[in-house]
Amino acid sequence: MRKRESRIREPEPTRRKAVTKKTLGAKRKANAKRKEAGKGKTTDSKKWKPAPKAMPQLDLSKFPIESVTRMDRGICLACVWDVFVRHLKLAPKTAQVEIKRYTPSLDELNAAVVQRPYVPAQSSEQPCPYCGEASKWIARLPIYRIESGKATDTLRRELVKSLSKKNDSFVVLEQKATQQRAFFEWLESISKQLDLNDPVWLREVSRHYLSRKEPKADWQAEFEAAHSIRRSRRLEEGWEVDSGRLFLAPMLFDELLLVQYLVSRSHLAGGLTLEGRYTLPELFQRLRHSGFLRAVGVQASNPGDALEELLVHLSGGAAALRFYYIIDRRELLEGAKGLKVAKAKVAAR
Ligand SMILES: [Zn+2]
Repeated sequence: MRKRESRIREPEPTRRKAVTKKTLGAKRKANAKRKEAGKGKTTDSKKWKPAPKAMPQLDLSKFPIESVTRMDRGICLACVWDVFVRHLKLAPKTAQVEIKRYTPSLDELNAAVVQRPYVPAQSSEQPCPYCGEASKWIARLPIYRIESGKATDTLRRELVKSLSKKNDSFVVLEQKATQQRAFFEWLESISKQLDLNDPVWLREVSRHYLSRKEPKADWQAEFEAAHSIRRSRRLEEGWEVDSGRLFLAPMLFDELLLVQYLVSRSHLAGGLTLEGRYTLPELFQRLRHSGFLRAVGVQASNPGDALEELLVHLSGGAAALRFYYIIDRRELLEGAKGLKVAKAKVAAR
């Protein structure tokens, strides 16, 4: 269902010589051997004083909230230095220049497991898990992934235009994807935030889905005003809040049931929705009976095939979409500056 995109395009400034996993792995082994031999850590790296300043976050509050994903990382400068200087034998000055140009690749950003020299954002306050150096060597690397689309394209262009161009403080990577992939990644990411044992999740997932579908409305405010979600008998399309109840047009309501089913179908037996628990055949009957299947053009006569067609309808299928990754390299650049100190000390020895 979630195929990797066949092709990745990186803009010019980011097409850089990458440090391969192999070299990093080899270096790690060498490091371990050196430690075993009792020689301890690198001496020059200990003398750096990067002390990366905490940079203000990018303001993405104008963006539709469901179109932006933050996927922060930390990057251990000591590890990168180690690879550049000790393994690739770069001169310290060249290493510093390379570190300043260092940007994760799309593969590294999307790797299931964060690998050296990257650490998960939540571990950036702890010593480096690879080389053991103190957390001051770990620069935070905030990453914002924005889905392309009518609701974000203009905002994104404006944002990118407004960002500092100095030393590539911000790098934008572009990745081709499909609507389907974006939808399922979104579904997975909100599912992780929900506690399916707490019935409030039905409301939460409804707010997320409506925010995604109609990003212009202030759903936070609408949900604060509404204590329940109902299927409207009056509306033909859209939605309204009336007397503390959020009424959705029948087709929109049914679509929401489907999303709830998808989120919860692996939880206990069957999927939970605002109308209670449905098995797939029951949901199929329900959506067929209400006219939803016909309305969205699903013709399959058995539940499994119908679900596949429904997923294409819901997600947008193979239609093209792009992800734009804005990588905030400011802390990395700040950290790399500290290398000047190290360079001077190494040279003075
Ligand atoms: Zn490290």
